[in-house]
Amino acid sequence: MSQAHKLLINGQLVEGAGTLDVINPATGATFVTVARANADQADQAVAAAKAAQPGWAALDLSERASYLNKLADAIDANADALTRALVQEQGKPMAEAGGEVAFTAIFIRHFAGFNGFDREIMQDDDALRIEARYTPLGVVAGITPWNFPLLLGVAKIAPALVTGNTFVLKPAPTTPVTSLMVGEMAADILPAGVLNIVTDANDLGPALTDHPDVAKVSFTGSTATGKKVMAAAASSLKRITLELGGNDAAILLDDIDVKAAAPKVFGGAFTNAGQVCIAVKRLYVHESQYDAMCEELAKIADETVQGDGLEQGTTIGPLQNAQQFEKAKGFLEAAKRDGTVIAGGDVAEDGGYFIRPTIVKDVPDDSPIVNEEQFAPILPVLKYNDVDDVLARANDTEYGLGGSVWSSNVDRAIELAEKVDSGTVWVNHHLHFGPHVPFAGAKQSGLGVEFSEEGLREFMQRRVISVSKA
Ligand code: ADP
Repeated sequence: MSQAHKLLINGQLVEGAGTLDVINPATGATFVTVARANADQADQAVAAAKAAQPGWAALDLSERASYLNKLADAIDANADALTRALVQEQGKPMAEAGGEVAFTAIFIRHFAGFNGFDREIMQDDDALRIEARYTPLGVVAGITPWNFPLLLGVAKIAPALVTGNTFVLKPAPTTPVTSLMVGEMAADILPAGVLNIVTDANDLGPALTDHPDVAKVSFTGSTATGKKVMAAAASSLKRITLELGGNDAAILLDDIDVKAAAPKVFGGAFTNAGQVCIAVKRLYVHESQYDAMCEELAKIADETVQGDGLEQGTTIGPLQNAQQFEKAKGFLEAAKRDGTVIAGGDVAEDGGYFIRPTIVKDVPDDSPIVNEEQFAPILPVLKYNDVDDVLARANDTEYGLGGSVWSSNVDRAIELAEKVDSGTVWVNHHLHFGPHVPFAGAKQSGLGVEFSEEGLREFMQRRVISVSKA
């Protein structure tokens, strides 16, 4: 069968040893067939990255940056095609997909603007001069999930490349298309071997995480798979960055403007059909505003236009894949069993993977829809009357990715935000992230930091040069 998109190995676009049928989640039907790599091809990709790395690292920082800026230009120039492909492989509406494509170019340009770290001198006196230098790690493997398939891959590639590493990307099996399209652009821009892209059917992750020539794994995905990555990386003590699951709580203090906050909270929960690691997954509302907020959210949910993301007017798409659809149906059953569904609750069984945006109230904290990560368009709304109590409930989870506190009194919100046990806490918004902001999970939501200068350091080895002056 012909392969509409090929692998990128050593600067060449090559046929995969096998093929992957990519399903459009809005229809449940295959829309394109692409290359699928085997273990030999994954090895070839690592070997190409290893061979290219010394030459790439030897370039001036400004030369590497210039290559990256050309890649950003290519992404902008191909934005329409990327956006359509992203909608078809992932399911999100055109506006969200267009935003992801634009943000991808912004991430590249941000990291291409890296000017090197400030000099770190620990001691400089008559006896010693001790300073830190930074060198690249070598070959980095990036393993990405299916919720932001374009952005999350490129947001690993750009900082790794600008710091002198070379890269092998393995996107998620259900969303390989936009990554392979980036490979097609990179084939014309980057020196051979600097970036390699291999796809799989969920079978090549270990080939990369176990590989002796891979120095670092940058992984985004579920906490369960992240633990496997960490175990595999232990064999050669690889550097790892893990960005894993979350069960973000949004706490609305009793002084919020319900009508103004409701659409923002709704967006925080239902963007990308709830399939965002940092989405609002549990909403805590003070008892004095509980009924009003539930009513407002139900109204917004009922007004959403769900459908194929390619159709004009669609505001929310399907679940991304059949497996996630099945999981989401289980959460929906839990919501119906344990609480009261006040909006949504319907499942479409006509091919696409659709669940109507669902609001569930009066649900206990021990329901799976509250204490597990749903990754679906189903939001539990929980009542509280005491701030200390709601904080304890919000923090009672193994996850610690994000969270938010909402109030018309920002100081009051910040005071509470400082006690939310997670890597990011937003005040009066949720979901915001960017290349200049360190992104790191607390507890079982991750390890290490992505983005920002600190994230760049994670792609480098610090080397201390200690000079005796005696
Ligand atoms: P999901 O459970 O929704 O499929 P995962 O966290 O398992 O999400 O997937 C994220 C990425 O991790 C995907 O690219 C997937 O192919 C990859 N992956 C799956 N299993 C492993 C593994 N054992 N080692 C490394 N990567 C893996």
